[in-house]
Amino acid sequence: MKQSLLFAPTLKEAPKDADVKSHKLMARAGLIKQTAAGIYTYLPLARRAMNHIERIIREELDQRDCSELLMPALQPRDLWEESGRWGEYGPELFRLKDRKDRDFCLGPTHEEVITQVTRDYINTYKKLPLALYQIQTKFRDELRPRFALMRGREFIMKDLYTFHTDDQDLDLWYDKIMKAYTVMFERMGLQTKIVSSDTGQIGGKEADEFMVMSEVGEDTISYCDTCQYGANQEFSGLHEKDPCPKCDSGTIKEAKGIEVGNIFKLGTKYSESMNAYYNDKDGQKTPVVMGCYGLGISRTLMAVVEQNSQEHAMVWPKEVAPFYVHVIPLKTNQEEDMAAAQSIYKTLNQQYDVLIDDRDERPGIKFKDADLIGIPYRVVIGKDLKDGLVEFTNRYTGEKKLVKVAEISQHIHR
Ligand code: ATP
Ligand code: MG
Repeated sequence: MKQSLLFAPTLKEAPKDADVKSHKLMARAGLIKQTAAGIYTYLPLARRAMNHIERIIREELDQRDCSELLMPALQPRDLWEESGRWGEYGPELFRLKDRKDRDFCLGPTHEEVITQVTRDYINTYKKLPLALYQIQTKFRDELRPRFALMRGREFIMKDLYTFHTDDQDLDLWYDKIMKAYTVMFERMGLQTKIVSSDTGQIGGKEADEFMVMSEVGEDTISYCDTCQYGANQEFSGLHEKDPCPKCDSGTIKEAKGIEVGNIFKLGTKYSESMNAYYNDKDGQKTPVVMGCYGLGISRTLMAVVEQNSQEHAMVWPKEVAPFYVHVIPLKTNQEEDMAAAQSIYKTLNQQYDVLIDDRDERPGIKFKDADLIGIPYRVVIGKDLKDGLVEFTNRYTGEKKLVKVAEISQHIHR
C-alpha cells in the first residue's frame, strides 16, 4: 500500500478530551475520528488492525466447531417482552419506533434474537450441542461514554451463543471456550486475567470476565497473591489485605482492569421465558441449556494499544499490526532511491503487508509519522544505498542496523 493513498490523518496534538495514552495515540496516529460522543469512525489503520483481531477470533472459534452468522441490529419489542427485558433494561437501551408506530430497539446484545432464531430448529436432543457466533455492531446509550473505544455508545462485539441438553455439556463447552479466549488474547499480544463476575443484565448463574490489567481500567479486581483466585470487586466485595477465600495462606490484593471479554452460563433463563424446548431421549419436553460469550472487539483494540505502546509510539503485536513492514525512502525525488524502494517493496509485499512511504515529505515528518503508526519492522532507504545498504529497525528490540538490500527478508520474523 502506498502511504500517499492511505487515509491516516496524523495529528501533532491529541484531542483535548483524550486523557489516556491509548486514546491520545490512536487519535494522533490517525486511527480513529470522533463522530459524536461515544461514537467513532474506525479509519483504515484501525480497521486493518480490527480485521486482524477478527481473523484470530474466527480461526479459534471455527476450529472449535462454532459457526458464524449475522443477526440484525434492529430488534422488535415483542422479543424483548418475551424475555421480560423490555421493561428491565433501562435507559441504556436505544429505543425507537418505525413509521407504523411499532417499537424497536438497537441491539445491545442478542440473547432474544438468537433464541428466536434457533428455537424451532432445536426440537430434539439430536440437534444439540450447537454453537453460533457473530461479529456485529452493538448499541448502548452509556451514561458515561469514555476513553474513546473503551466505552462507546456504538461498538463492535463478537458474541457467541451455545446450546446444550444439560448443565454438564454446558460446562464442557464453557471450559473449551474459556481456553479459546485465552489463546485468542495471547495471539493478540494481550495479557489477561480471568476473574469471576456477577451476571448483571444478561442473567444466568455463573460468569467470568477476561481482564487486561491496566491503571486506566474501570473495574477493580480482587486477586490472591498466592493462588489463582480472582474476582471482580463488585462481585466479591473483597478488599486489599482480606484473607483469600480459596486458599489458606493467600492475601487479597487489588488492581485495575479493562474488561475485554465476559462469558456466562445462562442456563435456562431465556429458553424458559422464550419457550425454547427440545424433546430428550425419553421424549420429555426439556428447556435448552444456554451459554453466551462476549468479546468487545473495539475495546480490545484499544486495550492492545494501551498495553503495547510507549507514550509517543505504538508497538503493534505481530498478529494485530495493520502493516508488518514499513519501507521509507527518504528522498522521493532521487530516481535510484525510489527504484530501490519499489523493488524492496515488491519483494517483501509477496510475503507481508507492506506500507511504502512514497510521500514527498521531509525525513523528519516521515520518521515522526512512522513512530506514531508503529509498524513492527522498518526499512529506511537513505545515504548508504550507494554501498548497497539500508537501515533496518526491529521495533520490538529497538535494534537498528545497516543491512544489505538482498538480505532484508532474513531479518524479518513472523
Ligand atoms: P461494562 O461492565 O464494561 O459496561 P458489560 O459487562 O456491560 O461491560 P457485556 O454485556 O459483558 O458488557 O459485553 C461483552 C463485552 O463487550 C465486554 O466484555 C466488553 O469487552 C464489550 N463492551 C461492553 N460494553 C461496551 C462499550 N460500551 N464499549 C465498548 N465495548 C463494550
Ligand atoms: Mg460484562
